[in-house]
Amino acid sequence: MSAFNPRHRDTLAGQISIALYRISQAMGFLLRERGLQLDLTPAQIQALLFLKYARPGVRTIGGLSERLKVAYATSSGVADALERKGLLKRSVVPEDLRVVKLALTPAGEELVAQVEGVLDVIEAAVNHLPEEEQSSLAHALKIIVRELHGAGYVRVYEMCRGCQFFRKDAHPENPQEPHHCAFMDAPLREADTYLECPEFAPANG
Ligand code: SF4
Repeated sequence: MSAFNPRHRDTLAGQISIALYRISQAMGFLLRERGLQLDLTPAQIQALLFLKYARPGVRTIGGLSERLKVAYATSSGVADALERKGLLKRSVVPEDLRVVKLALTPAGEELVAQVEGVLDVIEAAVNHLPEEEQSSLAHALKIIVRELHGAGYVRVYEMCRGCQFFRKDAHPENPQEPHHCAFMDAPLREADTYLECPEFAPANG
């Protein structure tokens, strides 16, 4: 039975599904409201956040398409609009001229700072729960997200800590890039290990 049917809400799964739907509606509303205040669309807000927190190698038009789950032409349009507003700049990778890199301008960085608290109200609501309930909720949501990820409905971007490809302190001789990513087979700077990566795979499976 559909979670939209109130009769279905006498099951826990039905109650939880509709609650998650309402939370997603609240998030959509918050994004639209903040966007209206700053003259940004929800996709532009997501693009700005992506450019601030994704690892440098994926900050490209292609990487943005994957992040927004839209076609290349659509993400290129989002980047065009942000470029016209002076919030990002493009550059090409000399080794592969088909790859268009994206980076925030100082004005873009400033605007992200005004945008990134958009989910604070959700976090405040979670903080009203006792720690034990937060811990159970975090565990349960992680499992649900993993299932949705496995089914291809969502892509999980996470930082290196906790990733099965992360090799901490693998290059003690190189203080600039002391860690290693076994997926890319490349050294990692400490700061980059705190950025979001689409190739993240949980260490426990
Ligand atoms: S694959 Fe894992 S270790 Fe490599 S950069 Fe991504 S999150 Fe970090």
